[in-house]
Amino acid sequence: MIKVGIPRALLYYQYYPMWKTFFEELGAEVVVSPLTTPTMLSSGSSRVVADTCLPVKVFLGHVLSLVGKCDYVFIPAIRSVSRKIYNCSKFLGLPDMTKAVIPESPPILDIDIDVNKGKRRLYQAIYQLGRHLTRNPFKVRQAAIAAWQAHLNYKQLMSSHSLTPPQAMERISGTLEANPKTHSSYSTSTRSTIAVIGHPYLLYDEYINYRLIHRLEQAGYTVLTPEMPTTEELESAIVRLVGRAYWTYEDEVIGAGGHYLQSGTDGVIGIMTFGCGPDSLMMDRVHRQAARLRTTPFMSLTLEEHTAEAGIVTRLEAFLDMIYRRKRREVCV
Ligand code: SF4
Repeated sequence: MIKVGIPRALLYYQYYPMWKTFFEELGAEVVVSPLTTPTMLSSGSSRVVADTCLPVKVFLGHVLSLVGKCDYVFIPAIRSVSRKIYNCSKFLGLPDMTKAVIPESPPILDIDIDVNKGKRRLYQAIYQLGRHLTRNPFKVRQAAIAAWQAHLNYKQLMSSHSLTPPQAMERISGTLEANPKTHSSYSTSTRSTIAVIGHPYLLYDEYINYRLIHRLEQAGYTVLTPEMPTTEELESAIVRLVGRAYWTYEDEVIGAGGHYLQSGTDGVIGIMTFGCGPDSLMMDRVHRQAARLRTTPFMSLTLEEHTAEAGIVTRLEAFLDMIYRRKRREVCV
């Protein structure tokens, strides 16, 4: 059986169930790289210039960890998934960059996703991808339909049960209890709530973010993430803050930030990485909105390769302490 490797990095958290379904429907075995380790980060870092963003370095480390473990590695070039809204340039050149800096990589299965080029080009691109595994266009079509349905189910599962991507994936694979004790109380909890906003590859890679969500949960907070509001709530927050979306995945920063700042959440934490152009603009917009509203405390954390864990923990503790004092004051008034 042909083995297709998928790096557990970048867009993995958004699309893994869809990609897995597609390849498995075509008879392939899917192999996912392990959780991020320091060795992965340093091996990925060693292949690119220093100012490459942290998530791309991590991604390359994951590709390196798949060398010798699969027949192909799947690296899509996702340019645009909504009309006239474009992705960060790093995603556009990912397959070519990987080929250039990791010559020992297994052959790369890539697909160019750009909805601005029309449906016909999209279908052709999907067929070209499927051709590596079958010559039967009908099978590719069936696999694509099943994959899209898996994606819709995954998104629905996250928003209707207030699950994070890792929790939803565990639920799909049957390893999570049907009634998890965290994240399931988005609308009904009386515990203090903290919203964490940013891209899933920063929020759910525990090595990169020093187990931020875990730390918040351990401190007794209910953690809210960008997957939990509805699409309408995210879109209306984008309209309020910037008029219209310019970047793909803007809902994860501006949409979620704008929504949570006005949803009664006790605090909002934005996560971004050093050297990220799109995020520095988007996070600044959320910051300004927080300063304008003055209703919900906001803190942004910038991660990079040399971020010290102690620094993150200190800032987090200070932020939580401030929220605690603020709430106590409100109760006393
Ligand atoms: S959006 Fe920012 S962090 Fe993400 S890949 Fe692009 S530059 Fe890197």
